[in-house]
Amino acid sequence: MSEFDVDLFVIGAGSGGTRAARIASGHGAKVMIAEEDRIGGTCVIRGCVPKKLFVYASRFAEDFEDAAGFGWSVPKPSFDWPTLRDAVANEVTRLSGLYRKGLEGAKVAIREERALVEGPHSLRLAKSGETIRARHILVATGGYPAFDPPIPGGELGISSNEVFHLPSLPKRMLVVGGGYIALEFASVFTRLGVAVTLLHRGDNILRGFDEDIRTRLRDALAHAGITLRLGCTIDRLELLPDGVRRAHCAKGGPIDAEVVLVATGRRPNTVGLGLETAGVKLGPVGEIMVDENSASSVPSIHAVGDVTNRVNLTPVAIREGHAFADTLFGGKPWHMDHNLVASAVFTTPEIGTVGLTENQAFAAGYELRVFESAFRPMKATISGRQERIYMKLLVDAKTDRMLGVHILGHDAGEIIQAVAIAVTMGATKADFDRTIALHPSAAEELVTMRTARAG
Ligand SMILES: Cc1cc2nc3c(=O)[nH]c(=O)nc-3n(C[C@H](O)[C@H](O)[C@H](O)COP(=O)(O)OP(=O)(O)OC[C@H]3O[C@@H](n4cnc5c(N)ncnc54)[C@H](O)[C@@H]3O)c2cc1C
Repeated sequence: MSEFDVDLFVIGAGSGGTRAARIASGHGAKVMIAEEDRIGGTCVIRGCVPKKLFVYASRFAEDFEDAAGFGWSVPKPSFDWPTLRDAVANEVTRLSGLYRKGLEGAKVAIREERALVEGPHSLRLAKSGETIRARHILVATGGYPAFDPPIPGGELGISSNEVFHLPSLPKRMLVVGGGYIALEFASVFTRLGVAVTLLHRGDNILRGFDEDIRTRLRDALAHAGITLRLGCTIDRLELLPDGVRRAHCAKGGPIDAEVVLVATGRRPNTVGLGLETAGVKLGPVGEIMVDENSASSVPSIHAVGDVTNRVNLTPVAIREGHAFADTLFGGKPWHMDHNLVASAVFTTPEIGTVGLTENQAFAAGYELRVFESAFRPMKATISGRQERIYMKLLVDAKTDRMLGVHILGHDAGEIIQAVAIAVTMGATKADFDRTIALHPSAAEELVTMRTARAG
């Protein structure tokens, strides 16, 4: 009999863990997976999926208004929060069930409880006390929302985990943070009729994104009715007798709101896992330090996804999990390339981006040709909506290669996914230029920009 109970023990049935477990099992490995919450992980249960469904819901507000310009008479629309909340919850339950079926179908043994690492090859299940000897351990425990820095009264705020389950739609919401999660929820709730204030300690939103996109989105969010308090921090949160939360700010007056959503960042989920006792090296924010093959400092322990704090997105976690399983159990070694990961921010208007920002390209020493276009989308001409689409192409002047594409506007996420194929293939500006435009569309602008920005 083998000295191990399983070939692979996966901690966390989220995006990365589930993919790795299924692929490894398909390669013939004996696999067990533990999940302490709901199968599916952050993306399915409290991230991408329910969030995007909220985004769809929020955009009907403008569709109703725009319809009038096209001849429709729409009775004054009203919105029912419990209907949306419960429909989204049901869809999440359906998807979680599909994830479970996928694991069962792949013959992965499931343990629905918290797993703890006790050594390079040993684990303990917290509730049942079951101990398991595993040839390999994969940590795919994701991340958790952090109130950063902690403040007095911080417990009066909620995180993105709870926002999907609000008992009722608040009149006012304070969203704290300037990253994509904060902005997406601010954008959603303002369109659902909530008076939203966005407070962020930085001078501008979305650090790390292209400057032109940041500034234009900031202006668009303000135009949509979100009150922006930038360059501002909260000293403390106070509970008023009527249940309202009062945020006392370092600058400017206090802000009152029924709900305070804190989205100031996420931390890798490694606290109390037992990794240090097994000798696994952690980084400054608690992330598991891994090499390009997702191997930790302990040869039998690997890690994928948000817990490694590389690029914290679902498709990245999935790809890392797949590469890990193919490499270790399928005799097909490969690793994930973390360059050129396309991403979107599902605010309204939304962002789609791939490749370097202008500042990154400049810092990397590229001589750049920059192409820009800002235009009114066709639909807005008749609807009368004040809306513009912005596109920016960054081209290496020496090789003509496309280094970055940034889009702000309707369907930017959908457009950028297709553009990312070309950019990943190493497309040049000449390739874009010889591509025939598809008319009438917004995306045709990507292949019709002829004149580089002066200077
Ligand atoms: C609000 C929000 C919106 C997002 N939107 C997007 C988006 O639009 N697009 C995108 O690509 N990404 C998005 N993300 C990020 C995405 O959800 C993550 O990058 C992705 O889920 C990471 O996958 P993972 O496998 O690393 O971890 P997770 O999916 O977080 O899975 C980790 C799992 O491990 C479990 N676990 C933790 N510790 C233990 C333990 N000791 N024992 C057993 N189980 C354990 C957890 O319960 C969890 O289910 C969003 C995230 C949030 C919070």
